[in-house]
Amino acid sequence: MKSILSIAAATLAAAMISFAGGAAAEPCLDVTLTGTQGGPPVFQGQAGAGTLVRYGDSENNCSDVLMQFDTGRGTTQQLSKLGVPVGKLDAIFLTHIHSDHSEGLPDMMQLRWHFNSGGPKVDLVCHADVKSPLGHVMSCQKFAAHIGDSLIRSGEMAQRLAENKKRLPGGPADLVNVQVFDGTPDAQVVWEKGDVKVSAVASRHVPGHASYRVDTPAGSVVIGGDAGNDKPAPPRDTSTSAQVEALADGADIVVHSVIHPVMGPDGGTGFPPPIYHRQSTATDLGALSKRAGASHLMLTHLIPPMGAARQGPYPIPGGGLSEDDYTNAVRDGGFEGTVVVGTDLKSIRLPATQ
Ligand SMILES: [Zn+2]
Repeated sequence: MKSILSIAAATLAAAMISFAGGAAAEPCLDVTLTGTQGGPPVFQGQAGAGTLVRYGDSENNCSDVLMQFDTGRGTTQQLSKLGVPVGKLDAIFLTHIHSDHSEGLPDMMQLRWHFNSGGPKVDLVCHADVKSPLGHVMSCQKFAAHIGDSLIRSGEMAQRLAENKKRLPGGPADLVNVQVFDGTPDAQVVWEKGDVKVSAVASRHVPGHASYRVDTPAGSVVIGGDAGNDKPAPPRDTSTSAQVEALADGADIVVHSVIHPVMGPDGGTGFPPPIYHRQSTATDLGALSKRAGASHLMLTHLIPPMGAARQGPYPIPGGGLSEDDYTNAVRDGGFEGTVVVGTDLKSIRLPATQ
């Protein structure tokens, strides 16, 4: 027969286990750079631009909601390194449809069609069609609608369907649920699931460029993409976007494409000034993050990549840049928080104690 003391001890132990279980289920947000290559060049196998944002709790590795922002070259392989199957993604968001941000998507959707034709579809959230002043149309919808066309034309899809009739007859496009929005300067909610809310603003880079913010009970992150200032060239106060700055107000983490000031007109690289001016510099991103009150700045889509002697055809004077070159440029902007100079698969998890 148990003594009262031992029953009390058992009760206390059960309460402690219960308390520990509750603590372990605390919400968490995980932000991982799936690819950090800046622009179309290749360098040492870096994957193209992309950020995986996961929300959940520590008992499921923050994996209740899986969101992929941009899908550059090699995104499928990077997700596989993280143990995240393409078929499990809840939503994919594109900042714009430049190839360095989107060319991994056909591969991802083909894989999903191959093994997950039974569904569910994946939401593809992007800006509605936009006609540029030069007359061309940037169309995420057409990109999605034709995502499997080359495989259909080659005959592969017919062959695969012949051996497995459960696959969707229209190919990978049948698994994409496109959700477009008309970009606005002020934030609008474009996607929600459970406790997760994603907002978007229109920002300048190319027509149809958007920047996103994810809000969760565990924290918030802004994905700026390649946003730059609405004014396409100096004189101007900053190279960063006012819309992104407002979106980032009070956010915990800012993830943003970056260009180092060495690529500017005075840096001696010969890099085209209009392309330089449509990106945000490391120094100005430091200043933006400070003003927004963010605690973490993750630089991605580095132009030039760390250690690269060239950005495409443009040589970097003095050879490649170091991590300190980027960090110091951010500090010049006054930011005192955590700086992550992006390499593939670097991540931040909130709360930081987990
Ligand atoms: Zn880009």
